[in-house]
Amino acid sequence: MKKLIRVEVFLLLSLFSTCMAVGCGTAKAPDAQQKQGLAASPGAASLAILAKADASDGNVDNVISKCVSCRLGMDGSPEHTVNYGGYAVHLCSEDCKKAFSADPEKALQALSFPK
Ligand SMILES: [Zn+2]
Repeated sequence: MKKLIRVEVFLLLSLFSTCMAVGCGTAKAPDAQQKQGLAASPGAASLAILAKADASDGNVDNVISKCVSCRLGMDGSPEHTVNYGGYAVHLCSEDCKKAFSADPEKALQALSFPK
């Protein structure tokens, strides 16, 4: 029995030291990078959605004039503008602006466009 426990402790210790060597402690880094990237530059998928949202108001001018937080169901206002991915995103209200700013990717991915 005692021998078995020793083997387990040895295995745990070797796992632990492997972890230290490989750098499991840095696992948080990609997450932080992702969060930074989120605010500054949208991914390709989001850019495609932004382009569609821009075109959906009949005017390709890098201004999305419908409220993205309301899934383009409301008119946005220049008073509530967020600049994202090179687009001026007009939201309909301060609340929608906050919601969009908090998680623009989520708001964009909630949009759907007729094919
Ligand atoms: Zn709205």
